[in-house]
Formats: sequence, structure tokens, C-alpha cells
Amino acid sequence: MSEKLLEEQKLSNYIDGKYVDGKTFRSVINPATGESIVEVPLSGKDSVDAAVDSAKKAQKEWALVPAPMRAEILYKIGALMKERKERLAQLLTMENGKVIEEGRGEVQEGIDMAFYMAGEGRRLFGQTTPAELNNKFAMSVRAPVGVVGIITPWNFPIAIASWKSFPAIIAGNAVVWKPATETPIMAHEMTKIYEEAGLPKGVINVVYGSGGDVGDAMVHHDGIKLISFTGSNDTGRNIASECGRQLKKVSLEMGGKNAVIVMDDADIELAVEGILWSAFGTSGQRCTACSRVIVHEDVKEQLEKRILEEMKGLTIGDGLDEENKVGPIINKAGLDKIKKYIEIGKGEGARLLEGGYEITGGKHEKGYYFAPTLFTDATKDMRISKEEIFGPVVSLISVKSFEEAIEVNNGVTYGLSSSIFTADVNRVFKAQRDLDTGIVYVNAGTTGAEIHLPFGGTKGTGNGHRDSGVQALDVFTEWKAVYVDYSGKLQRAQIDN
Ligand code: NAD
Repeated sequence: MSEKLLEEQKLSNYIDGKYVDGKTFRSVINPATGESIVEVPLSGKDSVDAAVDSAKKAQKEWALVPAPMRAEILYKIGALMKERKERLAQLLTMENGKVIEEGRGEVQEGIDMAFYMAGEGRRLFGQTTPAELNNKFAMSVRAPVGVVGIITPWNFPIAIASWKSFPAIIAGNAVVWKPATETPIMAHEMTKIYEEAGLPKGVINVVYGSGGDVGDAMVHHDGIKLISFTGSNDTGRNIASECGRQLKKVSLEMGGKNAVIVMDDADIELAVEGILWSAFGTSGQRCTACSRVIVHEDVKEQLEKRILEEMKGLTIGDGLDEENKVGPIINKAGLDKIKKYIEIGKGEGARLLEGGYEITGGKHEKGYYFAPTLFTDATKDMRISKEEIFGPVVSLISVKSFEEAIEVNNGVTYGLSSSIFTADVNRVFKAQRDLDTGIVYVNAGTTGAEIHLPFGGTKGTGNGHRDSGVQALDVFTEWKAVYVDYSGKLQRAQIDN
């Protein structure tokens, strides 16, 4: 499969519109099979310097291209992604492991974002507003930030890059993008698309390498005016403190500990479907994955029984096989972390109802597979109820009331996504008001964000910015207030009225 889909054996950085060979490499491993798919360069600071130089030059001209013309290129990018959707989805599944149906869904998110942001080429609205003096005009306009650095994780290698790079370029910025080392193939495929769509050289530069080398060099580079980062909290916190020291703009989207609340009046069958999809989709490796189920005590037994029955139907294996519903874990480190949390959960007194083990042997022998896992009798203070596990592990916490459910949901340091299953309209509206997360679902699981709404979280999940939606433009632009005085005399605001 890899030979047929990907001709290259080694990827190259993409700097100033040229493919630049690397010196040292590491293998990109298909997590479903353990096989090497391609070699990715491990670049260093020199490549980041070259990428920033190229972006600086390109940005000056790009910012002067009228936004509707910039949009024409973005429309072409979207059209090429659409034409290549199946190829991109298959390559995505090979490098990331998510099942092909989800791979297609993720590529679609990228396509949607391209067309949505291309539409912004004819909007990018500012405001006009009355001035406080006669014969004076006031308005606010969006200006590009300049050269922006984008650092992306492996779990959504094309969607998250699209959420960040498309608003960046429509707004007139130039980009230096560092994809995760585990998933560089989507970035490589996108470089071909940028070229074919006619994106001027230097507007997007791709530098492959580790976070400690390439990512760190980007964060420290004074030519990069903004870092837009998605990844883990530890990395994000370090990036934020360095950007704080430099007074560099920084946008962070980080982890989650998302819950589905199931009330006593819920449609239990619907709730089970929602829980299974959001807990075990992408093998639980989504920032929005459901890893807690907060259930009303009156329906706990019924819910537990039905989840267990449905879990037996989950087929686990290579995501390229359409039959499989759950794919592998990204790598051994991911597996080890999940195993550690299984032991922590058992030690804390949660009851393991299903799963809790690595799947090996036969067709699973060479990949990294973990059985979908259900804990029950968890309490809100256990570590498995508070910390991000990033695997197919879900814990049931029983509560006595709606109010307690909200309190348990909010009692974690993260604030990304939450969901409630209930038939009571009053509870629906109270929940959307009181759930302290950036995303709230009613009668649906915790995953399924749409690109034209803001994506991001409260508390430890982020730092107040949003990816996607029109709100993404706030990250990639500066507001400029413009006053035009046509009185012919010097008028002094706040004094001359
Ligand atoms: P990670 O923090 O290990 O890596 C993310 C990116 O940061 C990678 O490209 C990595 O190479 C880079 N990086 C690592 N160290 C760096 C450093 N010192 N300086 C600069 N860059 C560095 O995260 P991951 O394991 O790739 O992704 C999983 C995490 O991402 C989870 O916590 C998940 O919840 C989170 N995530 C959040 C969202 C969201 O929108 N909130 C979406 C997807 C994933």
C-alpha cells in the first residue's frame, strides 16, 4: 500500500518554494503494522532560519495581494484537496492509524476550512463607527501579524493544520509550519497542493523535525511574531512562558478531560451510541474524546450493561480495513501511558469492567493496539477521572442529581468539550449555561466540531484563543484603528467637543 500511494522514500523540507534535502532522518511508522512508510528529515535551527527568511520576503508582497485574490488560491487549494480526498485519507490512516472513515472525515474538515476561509477573502470585516468629532471618520481594519509559526500535533495532521494555516494566509501572513514528527506525510501532500494551486513561494514553508529542535527554534526566533500551537499542556505551558518573555503573541489549544453526562430521563440507546463514538473513535486519541461518563445513579446499571454489550461489537485493527471500527494507538509511548493509567485506576479502586490490556498476536502483533476499556465506580477525585489518558479508556462516575453532574463535569483543570443527554428542555438550557467548557453538545457525544464555529477550551485547555470559525482571524490579525480627519484643522479628541 505504501509503495503505491507514496513514491517518495524520503521527505524534504519545503522552503522558499523549493524542496530542500535533509541531512539526518527518522522513520515514519505505520502504527497499524509497525512498518516504516517513509523517512522524515530531522532538521535544526538553520532550516528554521532559512524558512523565516523566505517567509519574511514573501509576506511583504503577499500582504499587498488583494484578499479576494489570495482567496482564489485558497479555493484552488480546497478544490485540489477535494480531488485527492481518498488518497489523502488513505495516507492519513497509514501515518496516524485512525480508521479510514475518520480519515475521510478529517480531510473533509480541511476542505471545508479552505472554502470557508476563502470566503473570508471577500469579508475580513472590520467596523466603521461614528467619530466623536465633526468631519472625522473612524474605522477598524484587520492587519496581518507578519511571519507566523504553526506547530501541530499528530492526532489531526491535516485538520488542525488547515484550521491554522488557512486563516493565516487569507489574512496576509506567511507561515513556517512544523508538523508532528509522527505525521509528516499530510504536510508533504499539502506542499504539492500549495505549489499546484499557485501559492507564491515562501508564503508557506514546512520544516520537519523534533519539537525540541525545530519547534524550540521557532519559538525563540525573533522573526516569528506569533506561535499558534496545538498539543499537550506541558509543551504548551513551556511555549507560553517563552513567548511571554519575548512578548510574542501565542495561541494555545491543549488537552481535555471531556465528559458525557447521562441524566435519568435520557434516551439511553442514543447516549450509548454517543459514548461509544466519542470514547473509542480515533482510539480515544482526540482532544475532545469522552473519557468520563457522569451518569445519574438511577440509570447507571442500565447504561453500564448496554455500553458493555455494544463494546463487544467493536472490531479493532488496521484502519485501512473498512471493517475495523477502532484503529491502533500512535506508538509505544502512547501505549505505555495508557497501561500506566490502567494500573493507576485499579490502584485507586475503580472497577475494571472491560478491556484494560494491550492486544497482541496475529494481525495485531506488529502494531500498537489497546482494547477499549471501561472502568466503573470511579470517583471525581481519582486521577483517571482528572488526567488526560489519550487512549480508549472511559470511566463511569455515578451522581445523584443534575447539579452534582455539572459540578463533577466542571471539577477538572481542563475545559474543552462536554455533553449532556436529557429530554428536559430546562436542563438543556441550564447545562449550556453552566458547563464550563468551550464546546457543549446536547444529545450528542463530545466530538464532532464544525469548522465554522470557534474551536477551543476554557481553563487549562487554552489561553483564550480559538482555532477555526471566524474567531480564528482574531489570532492571525492585529486590529488597527484608523481615524481620518477631513475638517482641515487639528481637532483634538476628548477635548475639542
Ligand atoms: P505534543 O505537545 O507532544 O506535540 C505537539 C507539537 O509540539 C508537535 O509538533 C511537537 O513536535 C511539538 N513540540 C514538542 N516539544 C516542543 C517544544 N519544546 N517546543 C516547540 N514545539 C514542541 O502533543 P501531541 O502528543 O503531538 O498531541 C497530543 C496532545 O494534543 C493532547 O494533549 C491533545 O489533547 C492535544 N490536542 C489538543 C487539541 C485542541 O484543539 N485543544 C487538538 C488536538 C490535540
